Amino acid sequence: MAEFGYDRRDFIRALGASVAGIGVAGALPTYLQAKGTTYPISILHTNDTHSRIDPYPAGSALAGQGGVAARMELIRSIRDRASRSILLDAGDFFQGTPYFNFYNGEVEIRAMQQLGYDAATLGNHDFDGGMDNLLLQLQKAGFPVVSANYRFGRHGLAQRCASSVILRRDPLKIGVFGLGIKPAGLIPPAFVPQLSWGDPFEAARCQVSCLRMIHRCHIVICLSHLGLSYADERPSDRRLALEVSGIDLIVGGHTHSFLDIPEVHYNPEGRAVYVVQAGHSGLRLGRVDWEIKLGRTTEAAPTDASLIPVGERLNVG
Ligand SMILES: [Zn+2]
Repeated sequence: MAEFGYDRRDFIRALGASVAGIGVAGALPTYLQAKGTTYPISILHTNDTHSRIDPYPAGSALAGQGGVAARMELIRSIRDRASRSILLDAGDFFQGTPYFNFYNGEVEIRAMQQLGYDAATLGNHDFDGGMDNLLLQLQKAGFPVVSANYRFGRHGLAQRCASSVILRRDPLKIGVFGLGIKPAGLIPPAFVPQLSWGDPFEAARCQVSCLRMIHRCHIVICLSHLGLSYADERPSDRRLALEVSGIDLIVGGHTHSFLDIPEVHYNPEGRAVYVVQAGHSGLRLGRVDWEIKLGRTTEAAPTDASLIPVGERLNVG
């Protein structure tokens, strides 16, 4: 964030560039004044929750923060007020507390089911109990798991996971696909004998054309566990935003980045791509509000975004 020099003014300026007039109090953005009807949707997101079921314990610098119960309350209150919403996770829901060591991920998956996640992708730590365990736990929940560049051979995960999913929030069609990080050096090969990794940018191009051209999705979201950025040429969310056209929003993970304001990049077609990430351990719930205008052409742009603190900040002094 700091190195990129983003602040709220940059985000608002980018909004102004993509939808002239937005941010002017009381005035409808120009594109909303054109013919067509506008539909709002709130996109909620987490990443790298790392088995943090309970809030941080007393005595910790983060005491009282996080926790599934507080996240549930927050999500409920947003859903009660929003006309449309979806809830996404960008991977690494396993590993980090004794819950994982004792229950192998069952608690995390059942919690995600209770919270009503609409889609998730896989992080490197989600394989920490092996592929059989991951499948066993995922079978205890019904939400879609998406990964477009992991291949699972003949393993049952091939049936449980899909490249993408289309979420419908009448009348909107939201295309969501997933991208996973290269396993080498991050996942012990013995844990993932049938897992193979494909180029994420190639996979992304393929998903974008399928979701846009064939399925006519109004917006396309990438759930990415690639990481925000690296000093070397490794695939990252920033590179993805700059190099692949057709993605509206990248919901990222892995680097545990707290992006209080979305990063705005411009794809090869010159269109804005927004990159968000909500830190780690369920300390924040990310929220991006979009307005989508359906007319002769579809126009979509965020109107606001934030990372909402989860749980109470206890005075531990
Ligand atoms: Zn990770």
